[in-house]
Amino acid sequence: MRIFALVGVTVVSTVLAAQGPLPQGYWPESKTQEILAKTQTIRLTPDLSSLTAGEQRAVKELLQVGAIFQDWYEDARHPQALAGRRGLQQLDDRLGHPASTRDLLALYRLNQGPIAVTLDNKREPFLPVDPQVPGRNVYPSGVTREEVEAFLASHPDTREAILAERTVVRRATAENVARDRRVLANGPLGLLHQGVARELERLARTPDPKVLYAVPYAVAYAEPLTRAYEHLTAAADAVDRDDEELARYLRNRARDLLTNDYESGDASWVTGRFKHLNAQLGAYETYDDALFGVKAFPGVSLLLENEQATADLRRRMGALQGIEDALPYEHHKRVRDDISVGVYDVIADFGQARGTNTATILPNDPLFARRYGRTILLRRNILEEPDLFAVDLRVWRAAVAEANAGDLAIEGDFQRTLWHEVGHYLGVDRDKQGRTLDAALEDFSDALEEMKADLVSLFALAAMQRAGSVTPAMLAPRRPPGSGASCST
Ligand SMILES: [Zn+2]
Repeated sequence: MRIFALVGVTVVSTVLAAQGPLPQGYWPESKTQEILAKTQTIRLTPDLSSLTAGEQRAVKELLQVGAIFQDWYEDARHPQALAGRRGLQQLDDRLGHPASTRDLLALYRLNQGPIAVTLDNKREPFLPVDPQVPGRNVYPSGVTREEVEAFLASHPDTREAILAERTVVRRATAENVARDRRVLANGPLGLLHQGVARELERLARTPDPKVLYAVPYAVAYAEPLTRAYEHLTAAADAVDRDDEELARYLRNRARDLLTNDYESGDASWVTGRFKHLNAQLGAYETYDDALFGVKAFPGVSLLLENEQATADLRRRMGALQGIEDALPYEHHKRVRDDISVGVYDVIADFGQARGTNTATILPNDPLFARRYGRTILLRRNILEEPDLFAVDLRVWRAAVAEANAGDLAIEGDFQRTLWHEVGHYLGVDRDKQGRTLDAALEDFSDALEEMKADLVSLFALAAMQRAGSVTPAMLAPRRPPGSGASCST
C-alpha cells in the first residue's frame, strides 16, 4: 500500500474552460491562481511494505483518525469551514469540475479552511464565509479579549477552565447549555465529566449570554472524538500481537480523548518503545489561538520509524544532564538520559500537524515532561526533501559571502533541528511563582519558547565543542535563520 501526504498542493490547470463568473463570495480563477502559482508540491511516499499485516491494518485505522481530526481542526479554526467546504464541493460537482472550483478546493486544502494567506500575508476568505476572528471557533463568535478579561476579573474561579488548553469557551445561552447537557445525558461522558454536568445544571437555571463557561473538548467534540476512539481501539487491536507497547499507547490515547486528560496517553507514548510505527495524536499546539494563545488545536502525524538512523542518533546523543546543569539559570531539573528520540518518515499528517514540520517535541505540559520525559520526532523525509532543501539553499546563497556558499549541507539542517528540539527539552519551564510559562507569558509564550530553544541549542553546541564532543568542522554547516521549514513547538 502506498500512501502519500500532500504538503502544499498545487493543481496546475491546463484546461481553461469558458466559464462564467462564480457566485458571489468565491474568489475568481485569477486570484486563486496568483497563490497556487507560488505553491510547491511535495509528495511523500514512504515504503510501507516492511510493515506486518497487523501494522498495515493499524495504518488504515489511524488514517481514519487523521481524517476525523482534519475535520475537527478545520471546524475549530472557523465556524463555517465545513459548511463552506461542502458548498464548494457541491458547486464543483454542479459545474462539472472546472479549473476555477478545483483550484478553490486546492486552496482550501492548502489553507486547511476557507481563509487564504495572500501573497502580501493578509488573511482573506475565498469562499462566502465570515472573515477570520482571533478566537477562531473555540471562543464565542465575536468575543473580544477585553470582554473575556473583564469576565475573568469578576469570576476568578472560572479562569482555569476558561483558559485551559483543551476547552471551548461559550456564552451561557439557554441553547448552548441545553446542547451540552444533551451530550452529557447519555453514555459514559456524563459519568466522566460530573463537575461539568453540575455546572451546566446551574447555568441552565439562569441562562445569561454575558456569562462565559468552558466545556472540555471531550464534550464539545463528543461525536467526532467517539468515532476517533473506535478507530484508535481498532488500530490497537490490529497491532496487539506485533507491537504491544504501541497498542497500549493507542488504547490510552483513545481513552484520553474521552476523559479530556492526556496523562495516561502521554506517559505511554513518551516512555513507550515502538517497533515500526509511531503517531502524534491529539490537541497539543496553541499557535492557532490568536485571542489568548492557550487553546491547543488537534493534529495527527503518522510516522514510520527509520530504525538504523534512530539507533545511530540515540548513540550520539549522550548525556544531556551535563548540558542542563551548565545552563545559566537556577533550579535545574533532572533530565532523563534515555530521552525518547527517533528519526521517522512521515506517512501522513493531518490538522495542526500538517505542513512541512521538520521536527516535534511533545508533550508541552511541564508536569508530564518532568514525570515521563518528552519525545522528539525528527521527520527525515521532510528534512531531506530535495526541493525543500533547495529553497533553503537559495536563501543561504543569497545571504552569505561567496566563500561560504557551499557550507550548507542537509546534515547541518538535521543537526540544527535536532538540537533546537533538545533546546525545548532543557532550560527554564516555570517562572519564580511556579507558574508554567504558558500561564505566565500567555500570548508571548510561543515566541519566547522558540527563542529559548535556539539559544539553548547554541549554548549546548558551544559546550559540546569545549568538551570536545563536537568539532569546529561539525559546527560549520548551519541552517540560515528564518528559512523554509519550521518547528512545531
Ligand atoms: Zn521549536
